[in-house]
Amino acid sequence: MSLKAIVTGGGSGIGLAAATLLAERGMKVACLDINPPGEPFIGVKVDVTDDAQVRAAVAEAAERLGGIDVLVNNAGIGALGTIEDNPDSEWQRVFDVNVLGMVRVARAALPYLRQSEHASIVNTCSIAATAGLPQRALYSATKGAVLSLTLAMAADHVREGIRVNCVNPGTADTPWVARLLDQADDPEGERAALNARQPMGRLVRAEEVAAAIAYLASPDAGATTGTALAVDGGMQGLRLRAS
Ligand code: NAD
Repeated sequence: MSLKAIVTGGGSGIGLAAATLLAERGMKVACLDINPPGEPFIGVKVDVTDDAQVRAAVAEAAERLGGIDVLVNNAGIGALGTIEDNPDSEWQRVFDVNVLGMVRVARAALPYLRQSEHASIVNTCSIAATAGLPQRALYSATKGAVLSLTLAMAADHVREGIRVNCVNPGTADTPWVARLLDQADDPEGERAALNARQPMGRLVRAEEVAAAIAYLASPDAGATTGTALAVDGGMQGLRLRAS
């Protein structure tokens, strides 16, 4: 029996890599995105900030897949700066996508997940949730909320047989990071400096985050709920001595 998965933000980067790997491993996959991908995925266009759109998109995906066993709650946007750099409206806009977006999709998916024997939610969080990164106050606060939400949902739904976990990627080589680097005066120099700041001397690959998502989403992780799996090249766990 093949499991059915929906992946938000499945049109690019980590979401597209996760959708690709889940499909390779035999799941039927629907990608929910403002810019959904085409074949071989079931693409459903949705803006996660619109609750009516989310309900309709999740219902459409469930109908076309024949149910939902797995939700990869991954759509998210970045934000740079300290608390003085962004007005309230920007805080509300980014929380609306990164936090409420995940709440809306999970709320719409829960009735379908309750019908599944292998129900699982994987939220894409970030090391920003706990790392204290400079110039990322707003973004970090949204990911702190995603981490807390993951733990609270894991507790609320454990007796219903729905597992809830998250992945915490470090800086991953996705179109989003490429866009940020392209805005720098010296993109190649910025990329080299970014690589040099990583313990492994390189960025995380989207496929490596996808592998962690696929594990948490699969019945192999059947006894795992309420965890955050770091996929960050050692950024959080290692404290390397300056040499
Ligand atoms: P990306 O920009 O390559 O992909 C994000 C996808 O989300 C896009 O396809 C976009 O269309 C979609 N999306 C954005 N807003 C949406 C909305 N309102 N409704 C529906 N879809 C929407 O970015 P990525 O790097 O793959 O990031 C994916 C997730 O990974 C995000 O939650 C991000 O916070 C998280 N993350 C990324 C990194 C990194 O370094 N790239 C690190 C840690 C966590």
